[in-house]
Amino acid sequence: MSKIYNVGVIGGGVSGVVIALELAKYGVDTVLFEQRESVVNGPPFCHLHAGGNLYPDISDEQCKVLMKQSIEMARLFPQSIDKRPTFISVPKTAKYDLDKIKNRLNMLVDYYETLIDEDPLNEILGAPKDYYKTYSKADLEALSEQPTHKNPKTSDEWLSNTIKLIDYEKLKTPVILVQEYGWNLFRLAAQAQLALDKTNQCELNINTTVTNIKDVRNENLDYNWEINTEKDVYKVNYLVNSCGFKTGIFDESLHFATERLIEFKAAYVSKWQPISGLIPELIFHGERGTPNGMVQLTPYSDDYYQIHGMTKDVTLFENGLVKSKSKLTQPKFDKAITQKLNDGWEAEEIKTRTESAITSVTKFVPSFQSAIVGGPPLFGAQQIPGDDPNLRVGEVQFPSEFYARSEIVKASSAITVANQIINQIQYKGIVPLIAEQTNQNELLEEVSKVEIDELASKLASQRGYPEALSRLVIPQE
Ligand SMILES: Cc1cc2nc3c(=O)[nH]c(=O)nc-3n(C[C@H](O)[C@H](O)[C@H](O)COP(=O)(O)OP(=O)(O)OC[C@H]3O[C@@H](n4cnc5c(N)ncnc54)[C@H](O)[C@@H]3O)c2cc1C
Repeated sequence: MSKIYNVGVIGGGVSGVVIALELAKYGVDTVLFEQRESVVNGPPFCHLHAGGNLYPDISDEQCKVLMKQSIEMARLFPQSIDKRPTFISVPKTAKYDLDKIKNRLNMLVDYYETLIDEDPLNEILGAPKDYYKTYSKADLEALSEQPTHKNPKTSDEWLSNTIKLIDYEKLKTPVILVQEYGWNLFRLAAQAQLALDKTNQCELNINTTVTNIKDVRNENLDYNWEINTEKDVYKVNYLVNSCGFKTGIFDESLHFATERLIEFKAAYVSKWQPISGLIPELIFHGERGTPNGMVQLTPYSDDYYQIHGMTKDVTLFENGLVKSKSKLTQPKFDKAITQKLNDGWEAEEIKTRTESAITSVTKFVPSFQSAIVGGPPLFGAQQIPGDDPNLRVGEVQFPSEFYARSEIVKASSAITVANQIINQIQYKGIVPLIAEQTNQNELLEEVSKVEIDELASKLASQRGYPEALSRLVIPQE
């Protein structure tokens, strides 16, 4: 009789790999399928949302969850975290109330303290008292007179570098510097892939598309599902659907109803002239979907910068947000978006959209006008469970017995999903009770920095991006 796996995971995005690695850590026999040539190769991520400060409209509860989950993910993947702060500002044209933002930051400082009380290793965002700092107009004027620091260390040094480049007359004051860090997807992909390659507990099948799933739960067999690929059939007891924006395809074929949105978005790679000191990530808030939508400038190594702009001509797309026709069907993108997802972008559109992205930054950073196209866009589609496009924390659903569907909206939720699935498979008796659950993952810890450097660089190049995107601005030991 052919092998029966405890768990079959479909989709090797951040969610699928974290689930598979956490299962492997506890010795649960798992098989993971990824249709592409390497793992974590779907929609991009660049920001560790450790407090949700990019989203003034979300609830305090979502901010706290994002902080907790981000800390947990940073502990698992320290080599992917770029420890530079984020500059948060509200342009005079934007509606957001700075007092409300400050109250929320104070709430987050208290919450961060409780996380550190629970476990001192949670202190990955620096000391709680330094989590954020505000700067008045007078502070900005004084800092603009300070020398530039090539490698800034303190909040004031980061801000003094920044303020000389920004037209701060356009911004409300105070402005804020917060310890939300960068998150390098190539480095996370490399660490995950290397850890999966090293373990015998998880069989990783890349370049393998799952074509069909057969539900055999009522057929009195020793297993519950048959996973079909082009070449083989795999028998598994428990099925995890972590297909990202495509989770609805298998839900549809298995008749599991749910409401969901899918959204296509892109971020642009630009190259600027060398500047004399490092800068934080820059956020200029604005109302999503309007011509004044938020602008986000994310620094990478070697003068590369990634740009998001929450307007229709930059990050968002006409018909980019789609709802399912019924609760039983997978939502579908139109032809133009499907073509981008399947075949990539036309050179002309890369140029036009990257140039629009650069222009959106020059509103606040005038000298950024000298930036040029630095590479192809980072793009992809993501799922949003339910019908609220502003939801930032999605986790996992168990719509039927022995079946889990990962519904993460932010990459940081992957670890929570993994933990919930591990609890569920114990509860369902798929594996015996695990004596002690831990936050560490030895499989990930065994991967060295040198190995990550090497594979991350290879992955960036293989995927058509500048190799510099695989390096951290603030290298870690
Ligand atoms: C432009 C943009 C910017 C973003 N920025 C951030 C950010 O800064 N921070 C953050 O936390 N989040 C960010 N996100 C969200 C983040 O990218 C997603 O939450 C995350 O990548 C989703 O991971 P996932 O594993 O659920 O899905 P995916 O990454 O989509 O993984 C699903 C995988 O399943 C595979 N698959 C699908 N069908 C099959 C099949 N039949 N057989 C085999 N394999 C299959 C796919 O190839 C894919 O690799 C951003 C998203 C976008 C679009």
